[in-house]
Amino acid sequence: MVSQLFVKLPKISLHNHLEGAIRPETFFSIARQKGINLPADTLEDLLPYIQVTGEEQNLVDFLAKIDRVTDITQTEDVLARVVEEIVEDAAKQNIRYLELRGGPLVHVREGLRPEQVLEAILWGLKVGEQKYGVKARFIVCALRSDAPEDNLNLAKIAAEYKKQGVVGFDLAGDEAGYPAKLHQQAFRLAKEKGLKITVHAGEAAGPESVRSAIMDLGAERIGHGIRSIEDPSLIKLIIERDIALEVCPTSNVHTRAVSSLEKHPIKKLYELGVPIVIGDDDPQISNISLSGELKLLTERFGFSFRQVCDLQLQAVKYCFLPEEEKEDLLAKMEKELSAFD
Ligand SMILES: [Zn+2]
Repeated sequence: MVSQLFVKLPKISLHNHLEGAIRPETFFSIARQKGINLPADTLEDLLPYIQVTGEEQNLVDFLAKIDRVTDITQTEDVLARVVEEIVEDAAKQNIRYLELRGGPLVHVREGLRPEQVLEAILWGLKVGEQKYGVKARFIVCALRSDAPEDNLNLAKIAAEYKKQGVVGFDLAGDEAGYPAKLHQQAFRLAKEKGLKITVHAGEAAGPESVRSAIMDLGAERIGHGIRSIEDPSLIKLIIERDIALEVCPTSNVHTRAVSSLEKHPIKKLYELGVPIVIGDDDPQISNISLSGELKLLTERFGFSFRQVCDLQLQAVKYCFLPEEEKEDLLAKMEKELSAFD
């Protein structure tokens, strides 16, 4: 159980995947309704197939669990429902701003168009925001293994939904197998159209992958980026360009980006002055929460509670909202956090 202090703390969530945040009970009940073949007959027996067990060897094994969950998210009503539930779950742990992300192209297996996928997701976020009071926006993820022309098209579509709540464009998926540079055109277009850029890098590949995300794709934030620690000149570049690393400690252990929490470089990165924000990545697959990750910072990495509070304010600075909305959010967070002094 995560202590109430960390649950109550107002939080900003900037690295959270739709596909990894679907409630297991929702997956189980919808999969049964749809007649999907499941490897188990009860929710309890199903959990090892959709949550981390410790047996996963690498990022690809981890992603296979996410792939199974997306068997249900192929219709608009299910997409809108799971997204609304994700916002409800965010509200329960006092997340004040959620930047959810997801790959529209993983939800088109039953014939939805990417536009329909995005509209359903944005609808779920809007309803969730109204019902539960969590400001919620969306980052469209391109997958590294998808064809560059498909991602270019995806960037165009993503930009069309800027007014409806798409704030950013991301690259996710098999980092070791597909270089970022393949998708340069898509990212150039997304940036030109006013979307913010974040790229998963330095998770399953080394510093050169992070450098490419920054130099070739124009990343303003890096998903994970923890292997940047291996290259001092890259650390210098990250600080100079004021790029935030979206660090997700438990997920990094689960995907084997680091061998253990003890080996995780988060504190070193922080002490070097690298801007960091904390995410829970795929909380339902990892069976964790953002509150729990923040508690981990104090328990396992020697952060003070004050530093954890300051990281929430820092997250506002690096979020993808327009400046005036950031100012409002910052003022609200400062006021709320002052009650924790
Ligand atoms: Zn991620």
